[in-house]
Amino acid sequence: MKLPILLIALVAMVAAKSAPGRMAARYDHFRIYQLTIETNLQMEELKKIHEHISVHFLNELGAVGNKYNVIVGPLFHRALEKTLKFLEIVYEVIVDDLQKLIDESSVGDDSQMEWETYHTLDTIYDWIDQECAAHDFLECKVIGQSYEGRDIKSIRLSKRSGNKAIFLEGNIHAMEWISSATVTFLLNQLINSEDPEMQRLSEEYDWIVVPMVNPDGFVYTHEVERLWRKNRRPNGYRNESGDCYGIDMNRNFDYHWGGAGWNIDEPCDHWFGGEKPNTEVEIISLQNFVSSFEDGYIRSYMAYHAYGQYVLLPYGHSNTEFPPNYEQMKRIAAAFSDAAADVYGSTFTYGASGLLNYVVSGAAKDWAYGVKKIPFTCTVELRDKGTFGFFLPSNQITEVGLEVTAGLKALVNKAAEEGIFD
Ligand SMILES: [Zn+2]
Repeated sequence: MKLPILLIALVAMVAAKSAPGRMAARYDHFRIYQLTIETNLQMEELKKIHEHISVHFLNELGAVGNKYNVIVGPLFHRALEKTLKFLEIVYEVIVDDLQKLIDESSVGDDSQMEWETYHTLDTIYDWIDQECAAHDFLECKVIGQSYEGRDIKSIRLSKRSGNKAIFLEGNIHAMEWISSATVTFLLNQLINSEDPEMQRLSEEYDWIVVPMVNPDGFVYTHEVERLWRKNRRPNGYRNESGDCYGIDMNRNFDYHWGGAGWNIDEPCDHWFGGEKPNTEVEIISLQNFVSSFEDGYIRSYMAYHAYGQYVLLPYGHSNTEFPPNYEQMKRIAAAFSDAAADVYGSTFTYGASGLLNYVVSGAAKDWAYGVKKIPFTCTVELRDKGTFGFFLPSNQITEVGLEVTAGLKALVNKAAEEGIFD
């Protein structure tokens, strides 16, 4: 759950360069520094660093002992390095020119859907419509509209009656393009793969997929601000840059909502969880859609995110309280992790999110488990571990798709063995 912290000063700086309707914000010669935080004092100082340096944290600040990536513009390189040296914080410049990285992970040939490049919302949605028109076993439905009026599309694959269902959620966080790329990759495998094992999984289980929970934010990352995370509803607060937009929708679900999380209560920051739970129309649509199915039908709920290579299990709100079937969920997550690693060596760490990352509340997987009583839920944090982070090059999309396909097959089979679908 490595996530961006956009601090206000940087927003102001970037906003100045990217008035809406003009070209997207640019990050020429912005660097990504990786900081290793070893003491509480260093952490406390880091939390205050925006007071004199424009910084954009790519990870939520949590435990001491972790590495944190931070974006800093060319005007502040020297000041940052001076401060880090003074605080004895070990650092490394891992990206020298962020714009180059953004360009290398941008949309390529968008004329039709495939998994060699990232795509725009229109192309993703056109592909969904084509697949729906072509296959009787797909039921496609618009589950609601986003704040700006875009459709939120769903696909349900069902080849026989009496199956239990597996739910796949994508791109609730706008900037995590690999999420919808992977979820559509999986969906394509389920629909079109000739691999007998995939065909069996698409026969024996129903699959419900919402590949794009946050279409407004996603379009905004294409057109205006690549680093955007939230949805685009003006949230009623202002700062020196003007109106503040958006809610972190994976902090807005009503299960132990608002308990904890870095800057979850900062309306102009990228982790704002809302004034109260269930405030966002996208989240309400998603919840209503999940709730529209008979209780006990959906047996697994998986939310795809980037980055860090984790299978995060409930709970997020605590690191001392664990779900009743936590050990069972760990065995299922282990099956995913082992099988995914066999493909290209990518290791996925698994366990309760509150334990592995930091305590944070209001996430989809916790709501699905705690409120909807779905017995296996998780957040899958895709590649990588921070080298490219949110800007994973296009030439890795297919590899991610293949390793996750392998992981998913093993996960479903293990879950079946564990009685999750009984
Ligand atoms: Zn995310």
